[in-house]
Amino acid sequence: YFAQPPFELSQQDKLLGGLLPAGLDEESCISRYQSVMYRKEQKLQPSPYLVSRLRKYEALHKQCGPLTDSYKQTLEYLNSGSQQNYNSTGCKYVIWTPIHGLGNRILSLASTFLYALLTNRVLLVDPESKISHLFCEPFPEVSWLVPSDFPFIKNLSRFYSNSPQSYGNLKKNNNHSYLISSSLPPYVYVHLVHDYDDDDKQFFCDHDQTVLQNVPWLIMRSNIYFIPSLFSVSPFQQEINNLFPNLGTVFHFLGRYLFHPTNYVWGLVTTYYNTNLARADEKMGIQIRVLDKDSNRFKRVLDQILDCAGKENLLPQLINETKSIAIQSVKLNRTKAVLITSLTSDYFEEIKTMYWNHSTITGEVIQVYQPSHEENEQNENEMQNIKAWAEMYLLSLTDKLVTSGWSTFGYVAHSLGGLKPWILYLYEDYKAPGMSCQRAVSMEPCMHAPPYFDCTRKQYTGNTVKLIPQIQHCEDKLWGIKFI
Ligand code: GDP
Repeated sequence: YFAQPPFELSQQDKLLGGLLPAGLDEESCISRYQSVMYRKEQKLQPSPYLVSRLRKYEALHKQCGPLTDSYKQTLEYLNSGSQQNYNSTGCKYVIWTPIHGLGNRILSLASTFLYALLTNRVLLVDPESKISHLFCEPFPEVSWLVPSDFPFIKNLSRFYSNSPQSYGNLKKNNNHSYLISSSLPPYVYVHLVHDYDDDDKQFFCDHDQTVLQNVPWLIMRSNIYFIPSLFSVSPFQQEINNLFPNLGTVFHFLGRYLFHPTNYVWGLVTTYYNTNLARADEKMGIQIRVLDKDSNRFKRVLDQILDCAGKENLLPQLINETKSIAIQSVKLNRTKAVLITSLTSDYFEEIKTMYWNHSTITGEVIQVYQPSHEENEQNENEMQNIKAWAEMYLLSLTDKLVTSGWSTFGYVAHSLGGLKPWILYLYEDYKAPGMSCQRAVSMEPCMHAPPYFDCTRKQYTGNTVKLIPQIQHCEDKLWGIKFI
C-alpha cells in the first residue's frame, strides 16, 4: 500500500528532477525509481549544472571504471610501482574504504564521491565494506566495486595514518618541504579520520591538491562528512557553489543520487512503511542515540525527548487523571504514527505505554513503533547494517524528525529526507536548563573534527574557523561546522 499520487508520475518526477540517470534496469533496483512515490512532493530541484556534471561523471566512470581497457592499463601502471611510466589513459581513481558505523560511512562515501567529481577521478569502493548488500550500483553499466584482482585488495583496510604510503607520512618524511608529484608513488593513502594529524590535514590545502592531482590512485579512509572543508580549497569553492547554488542541500542531493536501497532492504522499508506508517495522518520520527554512559541517562534522555516534543508541539499533551481537560475536538480521530529508532527498546516501551494509558488533549491517536532494538553496536554485522539502513530510510520518510546530537545516523536520515530536524542536545552540551532541543538551521549534516589548520602558516589554528554566511558551527557540536 502506498498513497498513489493523484496524477501520473512524469519522467522528470521519477528521475528526481534529472538527478538520476534514465534507462537503468528497474527490476534490479526497484527503489531507484519507486522511492518518489513514498516521499512528499519534491520541492527542491537539483541545479542543471549538477545534473550535467553527474552525466559527465557517469561517462567517465563508464570509460575508466573496473575492467575497462583504461582501468587495466592504469592498473599496470600501479603494478609497475613508479611514476616513471606515463599514465596515458588519463584515468585517475579514488578508492573509498570503510570505518566506523553506517552513518559515518555514508557521509564519508558521499564526501569522497564529491571529491571524485571535483578532481575528475573515478570513485571505487572497497568490497570489504559489503555495501553491495545495502545499496544498488549507482552508476550505469560499470560497477563501483574494486574488482577482486586488484593488487592489494585484501589490504585496503590495513592502511592507516602511520602507513608508509600515507600522505601525511610522505610529507613528514620529506621533512615538510614541498612535495612534488614526481616524488610520490603511483598510489597514496589519504587519512581523513577524526584522529588525523597536521600533516594529514594538509590534504585540504591548495598546494597539496595540486600535488595530488598527478597521483593516479588515491586510497581514502574517513569517518567524517568532509565536504565543508573541501569548500575551503580555492579551486573547489566556485565549483561547489556552481553545483549547489543552495549549499544547504549538498548531502540531500548527493545522498539521493548515490544511495538506493537494494531490493532486499527496499522490501523491509516498504513492508514496514505500508503496514505501520502509510495510513497515519502524520508521521513523526524520533531517532534516539545515547552516547552518555552515566547511570541516570535513561530518565534524563526520556525527559529531554518529552520536553522537546511538548515545547515544540510535536506530540500532544496527555489527559491527566487528576485534571479534567476537555478534549479539543479539532484533531479528533487524527492519527499520528511515531517511529522510534534506538539500540534499546526502553524508550519505545515507555512512550508507547504513556499513549496507551492516557488519551491526548487534542483527541489525536498516537501510535508508537520501533522496528528493531539491536542492543549493541556491531559495525561489521551485516544484518545490523541492513536494519540500520532500513531504519535511516524509514526515518527519512517521516514529516517531522527529532534526532540525537552528534549522531551521523540521524544526519543521514534527516538530510536524505530533506528535513530540518529538532536536535536533542548531548548532555555535556546541554546549554541551559529547559533547553532540550533546537531546530536545525539547515538539512545538512555536521562536519565533525574540521582540520582547523592554517595552510599559509602551516599551523593548527585552535577551534576557530573562518565562518562565512554559508558555513556556521553546528547546533549540536560547537566545534563542528556545517553548510546552511
Ligand atoms: P553514530 O555512531 O550515531 O554517528 O551512527 P553510525 O550509524 O555511524 O553508527 C552507529 C551504528 O550502531 C549503526 O551503524 C548501527 O549499526 C547501530 N545503531 C545505532 N543506532 C541504531 C538504531 O537505532 N537502529 C539500528 N538498527 N542500529 C543502530
